[in-house]
Amino acid sequence: MEASTNRALDQRPTIDVHNPADSRLVGKVIDESAESVAEKALALRQGQGEWEALGHKGRARWLFTFQSWLLDHSAHIADVLQSETGKPRAEAEFEVPAWVDLINYFARNAGKFLADERPRPHSPLGWTKTLTTTYRPYPLVGVIAPWNFPLAMAGLDVPPALMAGAAVLLKPSEVTPLSALELARGWDEIGAPKVFAVATGRANTGGAVVDTVDYVQFTGSTSTGRSIARRCVEQLKPYSLELGGKDPALVLADADVDRAAHGIAWGALFNAGQVCVSVERVYVEAPVYDEFVSKLTQRVRELRQGQDDRGFRFDTGPMANMTQRDIVQRHVDEAIAAGARATIGGKPTGRGTFFEPTVLIDVNQSMSCIQEETFGPTIPVIKVADEDEAIRLANDSRYGLSASVWTRDQARGRRVARKLDAGAVNINDTIANLFSFALPMGGWKQSGVGSRWGGAAGVRKYCRQTAITEPRLPPVINEPMWFPYSKTRIRLAFGAMRAIGAQGLRRIGLSKEKVR
Ligand code: NAD
Repeated sequence: MEASTNRALDQRPTIDVHNPADSRLVGKVIDESAESVAEKALALRQGQGEWEALGHKGRARWLFTFQSWLLDHSAHIADVLQSETGKPRAEAEFEVPAWVDLINYFARNAGKFLADERPRPHSPLGWTKTLTTTYRPYPLVGVIAPWNFPLAMAGLDVPPALMAGAAVLLKPSEVTPLSALELARGWDEIGAPKVFAVATGRANTGGAVVDTVDYVQFTGSTSTGRSIARRCVEQLKPYSLELGGKDPALVLADADVDRAAHGIAWGALFNAGQVCVSVERVYVEAPVYDEFVSKLTQRVRELRQGQDDRGFRFDTGPMANMTQRDIVQRHVDEAIAAGARATIGGKPTGRGTFFEPTVLIDVNQSMSCIQEETFGPTIPVIKVADEDEAIRLANDSRYGLSASVWTRDQARGRRVARKLDAGAVNINDTIANLFSFALPMGGWKQSGVGSRWGGAAGVRKYCRQTAITEPRLPPVINEPMWFPYSKTRIRLAFGAMRAIGAQGLRRIGLSKEKVR
């Protein structure tokens, strides 16, 4: 019996995982079928009731045990991450601390976030009732994740959903599934309740996850997000979508140009530019344009690009795959064909999927490198006449994920931030909102629907609310609005509502006609 089960498992279709830096085969995972996803979903549902019943303190204990496991295995996990992404060691090592921080925040605060609320009644007529809002989790949350941060992207959503009391089925990207399997191994090794599992596979597996869960938390491209939204709507299933971006940086004439050049080089090239909130276009006020371009080019020239090991020898690595590299190449080629110039970089290095970190100037707003998400190591820079033009061009995008403003005048920075069409604005910094779990992280326009985090909202989004009313006064046999209707009682009740809610003389029953 066991042998035949193993044979069946062996015959399941698999997906090869490659290191993009050198094309080496680094692993194989199962391309899970809809049946396999349904089985996992069923097992998770069976465990969820007890998980919810543990309460936030019991759940927090498991999450802190898991946090310790992650820390104890962090070097190995970074090795796995590097094997499937080719990331520099520094960037691979960043992903476990991201989980540590997220677990700490949500495990410590979930009690407060999930506590019943006792709102005041909206009107004195409601004072006869005690009002309570309670939060109960969706039993099963599906987290569908992209490849750019194989561990951290899951970490943004799995801990708050688990702390809400939900069970979680994680579907990592088929490009980078190995790190997520480490998470499943860890959860298993600590002996935690069976409320977290990983389903590996491609789009079909993702679709099966959508079909089997009660809430979908998706992070990925705008086109996939749209098809997931359609599927959710068909099933009347709630969802939250964190999608693509084309984030602008606005460098104003009074900026600290050195800091702006350092910050934008990092914000655009961290993870080889494969970050949803990376800087994808820069608008610079004319008086500091030449200085900024020269300093930015210098910063980029200093970067060490290559295939890293545990030695922290490189700052920037390869693209996740050839498809991604080809998009970058097309954007650069189209820009140059239309009159742009690379002050540095501009082509693939010839090894693996590496593309040279690139600064483009003489760029205009209509180019694909400004209009489409690149998700690569390019920094197109446009000179603008003034702040108004910078804001207008920054807002001229179908995306609205985040933005940055660089100025020595923070009040000016705050004023500009309020005019930008984006879910987040960092003043004199970049990507900082991604480390601020007390703030909501969500996109405007084609960059998303809903948001993650934002303090209590980050856990409550995985819950259904129940509104409970209960009498504060001893019960009476009949209420004024109940049967049988009585003109006197109805008039009294309506009169009271009008006296409280209407404006001016209408409070005391003078109609429009009588007022005139
Ligand atoms: P993608 O949309 O191709 O894939 C994301 C995930 O969805 C993968 O796990 C994939 O297997 C799955 N999937 C694909 N088709 C599916 C379908 N029809 N049904 C269900 N699941 C499906 O995205 P990607 O290429 O892995 O990631 C890059 C994109 O993610 C970029 O656009 C980037 O901006 C975006 N992103 C956004 C954020 C954010 O928080 N806003 C964060 C990181 C990445």
